[in-house]
Amino acid sequence: MMPNRRQTLCHAAGAATGLAFIGCGLVSSALAQAPQRRREVVVNGRRVRTVDVHAHCHVPEANALLGFKVQPQSLVISPERIKVMDEQGIDIEALSINPIFWYKAEPDVAGQVVKLQNEKLVEICAAQPDRFVGLASVALQHPDLAAEQLEYAVKQLGLRGALIGGSVNGEELSDPKFHPFWAKAEQLGALIFIHPQGTAELSASGRLKGNGVLDNVIGNPLETTIALSHLIFEGTLDTYPGLKICAAHAGGYLPSYAARSDQGCVTFPQRCTNALKKKPTEYLRQLYYDSMVFAPEGLRHLIAEVGASQIVLGTDYPFPWTKTAVDHILSTPGLSDDERVEILGGTAEKLLAIKPV
Ligand SMILES: [Zn+2]
Repeated sequence: MMPNRRQTLCHAAGAATGLAFIGCGLVSSALAQAPQRRREVVVNGRRVRTVDVHAHCHVPEANALLGFKVQPQSLVISPERIKVMDEQGIDIEALSINPIFWYKAEPDVAGQVVKLQNEKLVEICAAQPDRFVGLASVALQHPDLAAEQLEYAVKQLGLRGALIGGSVNGEELSDPKFHPFWAKAEQLGALIFIHPQGTAELSASGRLKGNGVLDNVIGNPLETTIALSHLIFEGTLDTYPGLKICAAHAGGYLPSYAARSDQGCVTFPQRCTNALKKKPTEYLRQLYYDSMVFAPEGLRHLIAEVGASQIVLGTDYPFPWTKTAVDHILSTPGLSDDERVEILGGTAEKLLAIKPV
């Protein structure tokens, strides 16, 4: 069952004091029969409000408009999600919807899908404002429309930014056709979460077929790597230096092999005609990344390349990549307490305009 707000608060109090629920008179008998432990994350005695920037959902009515099934069903918000968040120590999820199924839609239908999804996100967040914030959907294949949708979503609906794909029907995010969207995102100060939708071109070639889920395991981080590289090398980040971009899956492969991006133009200067304001790797330090690298050494290296201030907690829920995203932050060596607190939630609170407790 879904605890109401009063029960949730009661929960938290019980967990904080280490007391069982029997001492709390506000808990309903039904809940008392099936107590659900909410993990409270603490860093050196400090309770930390954790924020997961990478959590997905679907709105079935919107999928139906384009004939797409919701798969898996756990993408539909249900009480189970809160239970899992409680178990894993996730206090707030920033909900988002992957756009692959509406990026080919004409403006009318794309507009309907986006409207339905954004309004439903608002409802979900309003029902549990202490657990969810929303990242809007936009129809980026129609850049002017997407800019309007983003403005409406942020200013009128209270959504905190948007999720976009790593490319749009084969076109790069750095293409000047998308400049109206980037200009609006910068003007609004809205967080733009770049999430890959696979690499359709490679999948079509067959090179990612076979054992190992390579279309996802390799295809997704590769798309993010390509997307960020174009935003850097085509000068998009120079044109819109105030953008707040967060890259899914820790920025793909780019931060793992960052220095090669600097060496390309040194080695082949005749192929670099677009003068950048900074070294390519310096742009990596102005982007944000979720923490989805799974291994402490991966996170240590990511932080060495981009800075601890650029990392935010991510789970990819409900896709079961990890149940230990919080422990991943807690156990990575070399971080100060303050850095852990910021990665677990502090930085995301600022990016998503979540009010302090
Ligand atoms: Zn995801």
